[in-house]
Amino acid sequence: MKFPILLPNIFNHPFTYESDLKLGIGDFVEVPFGKSKMVGVVWNNFEQKTSKSFRIKKIIRKLEIPRLKEKTLHFLNWFAEYNIVPKGMALKLVLVSGKPIEKLDNEFYQDFKHEIKENLYKLTNEQKKSLKEINISNRGFNVHVLQGTTGSGKTIVYFEALKKILKKKYQGLVMLPEIGLTSQFEKKFLEFFGFSPAIWHSGITKKKKEIIWSGIANGKINVVIGARSSLFLPFKNLGLIIVDEEHDQSYKQDEGVIYNARDMAISRASFENIPINLVTAVPSVETYENIKKKKYSVSKLDQRYQNASLPNYEIINLNEVKLEKQSWLSKEIIQKVSFHLEKKDQVLFFLNRRGFSPNVLCKKCFNSFSCPNCSINLVYHRNKNNLLCHYCGFNTLLKKDCVKEGICDFIFSGPGVERISDEVKKHFPSKKIEIFSSDTMNKKSSKDKLEKIINNKIEILVGTQLISKGFHFPNLNCIVVVDIDLSTQGHDLRNAEKNLQLYHQLSGRAGRTGQPSTIYFQTYNASPKLISDITNKNPEIFLNKEIEIRKKNNLPPFQRFISLILTGENEKKLEKEAIKFKIFLERKIYGKILGPVSAPIFRLKRKYRVRLLVRGPKSLKLNNSLALIIQKYKFSPGIKLSVDVDPISFN
Ligand SMILES: [Zn+2]
Ligand SMILES: [Zn+2]
Repeated sequence: MKFPILLPNIFNHPFTYESDLKLGIGDFVEVPFGKSKMVGVVWNNFEQKTSKSFRIKKIIRKLEIPRLKEKTLHFLNWFAEYNIVPKGMALKLVLVSGKPIEKLDNEFYQDFKHEIKENLYKLTNEQKKSLKEINISNRGFNVHVLQGTTGSGKTIVYFEALKKILKKKYQGLVMLPEIGLTSQFEKKFLEFFGFSPAIWHSGITKKKKEIIWSGIANGKINVVIGARSSLFLPFKNLGLIIVDEEHDQSYKQDEGVIYNARDMAISRASFENIPINLVTAVPSVETYENIKKKKYSVSKLDQRYQNASLPNYEIINLNEVKLEKQSWLSKEIIQKVSFHLEKKDQVLFFLNRRGFSPNVLCKKCFNSFSCPNCSINLVYHRNKNNLLCHYCGFNTLLKKDCVKEGICDFIFSGPGVERISDEVKKHFPSKKIEIFSSDTMNKKSSKDKLEKIINNKIEILVGTQLISKGFHFPNLNCIVVVDIDLSTQGHDLRNAEKNLQLYHQLSGRAGRTGQPSTIYFQTYNASPKLISDITNKNPEIFLNKEIEIRKKNNLPPFQRFISLILTGENEKKLEKEAIKFKIFLERKIYGKILGPVSAPIFRLKRKYRVRLLVRGPKSLKLNNSLALIIQKYKFSPGIKLSVDVDPISFN
C-alpha cells in the first residue's frame, strides 16, 4: 500500500512511500530519504501529483509511539497555512531535536506521579462565581477570559478548573510567558495539587525533554507548565489550555518559525475542541476586541487580596526640574524614596535597559563602538567589563589604547540599570541594592536572590522589564519609573498599549499586602490626559480609545499585517531584489504592499534587512495567496525571506 509521509524538513508536502505494514494516519515511521534515514509521520493527504516520477521507496519500520491524533495533524496543517511556513517545519516543532521519542521505562516517569491532594483553599464568592463561568463552558471549544487585578487570586481559580479536568483523566497545559524563573509558581502548584508539574522550556536538558515528551504522548504525565513551544507537545488527551498573562508580547516567537503562541494556542484548542482560558490583569487590545464582540466570554475578579488598593501615582516632569550632569534621578525622587525607605518600604527603580550605558565614545579619538554584525551600538556592561550586542550576542573588551595617544578618555552617554544602581548607591550608601535583569537573575544563584528580596533583606531593586513578570514581593511599596516614553509618535503601533501594560504590571508588583504604595513616573513628555488614561483603575477606558484609533486607521486587529523581511549580505543587491519582489507580488495578492523600507535595525547578524508590509483583510485568502505566489518566486542567491504574520516588533 502507498502512504503519504510528512518529514520534519523544509518541504510543504508529504512524500509517497509504500509498505505492507498496517499503518494509520498519525503513525511515526522511519523512512529512507536521500542517502540517509529520517523519521516522519503518516499524513492525512497525499502530495499533489507532479509530472516527475520517482521510484517509490519502502518504509523501514513503524516506531513504538502512540499516533499523533488526527486533530493535531489538522492543527499543524492550519498552522503552516496561517503562518506561511512549510508543513514539514510545523511538524518539526512537535519533535525533540527533529525526532520523536519512543516509549521509556516506567521508572522515568516516577517524578511525575499525580495523586491530587485535597486542599483546603476557600474561594471567595467572587472566585466561586468566576469558576462557575469557566466550568459552564467546559464542554467543547470555548475561549474564556479570566480578568483580574494582580493579587485577586486568578491562579487559584484556574487551578480549581484544572483540577476538575485532571480528575476526569484529561491532560492540562498551562502556558507562561517568562519561564526562566518559575520557582514561585512551581511552589504554588505543589502546594495546591500535591505534586510537581512537568516544566517545559528551551532551557531544560534534552534528557528531560525526552522524558516529558514521551510521558505526554503515553499519558503518563498529565500537567505541563510551559513556554511557547509546549504548545506543540503530542498530548494524548488534552482537556484544557490556560494561557497566563495572555497580553504578554513574549508569546511571540520571532526567530526561526515565527508565530504567536497565544493565538496558536487558541487555534489548537479549537481543533482539539476543548476550552481555553486566557488569564490577564489587563487584556491585550486583540483580546479585548474579541470580548466586546462576544466571541470570548469573560469573568472578572475585582477584589484585590486583603482589599489592597491599586498604587497611587505621581508624575515628575523632567522639563520642569533640573537634573545634574550625568544624573538621571531628580532631587524630588530622591526625597520621596528616602521617605519610603524610612517606612521600611522596599523600593524599585525601573529602567528597561540592561548594562551600564548604551553609548560609549572616546573624547580624544572619537572612536565609538557599534556591533560589527548589526547596525546598532554596543552596550557597555561594567560588571563584565565588556561591550555587548543585545541582538546577536557579539561581545568584546573595552580597549583603552587610544588611536591618538595614551589611553582613551571615554564618555558614557545614557544609563542602563548598572548605572542607575550606581547613582542610587551614591544617594543611599548604607542600603542593600540589587540589580534585577536577565544578566543577574537567570542564573542558579537567582533563587537565593529572590528569597532575599521576598524577605525584605534587599532594600532597593533596580530592575528591567523582567521584574514586571508575575513576581510577588510583599514589601515593595514604591516604584520609580526612571524614564517613561509616552510619545505617541514612532513606528511602533503598540507603544501606547505597551505603556498601559507596563503600568498595570508594575502596579501589580506594588502594595500587595495592603499597605499604601506609590508609583512615580519621571518623564519628558508628560501629557496629563494620556497618563490619566493609562493609570485609570479601569483599563477599559484606555482600551476603548485605543480600539477606536486602530479602527479608524485600519490597524490590527481590524486588518491583517504580514511582514516580509528580506535579508542579504550585499546591500545594493538586496534593495534591487526587494523592489523586484514587490512588483512580482503586487498584482497577485488580496492586499496592499507597503515598502520596501530599510528595517530600523538595518543590519543584523551580518545581514542587511529590508522589509515589505502587506496589509489586507483578515482572511486566510490573503495568507494563501501570498504563500502561493512566494513559492513561485526565485530569489537571487544569498537572499533570504522570512515571513512574520501579525508582526509585533518592527525592528
Ligand atoms: Zn550584533
Ligand atoms: Zn581614544
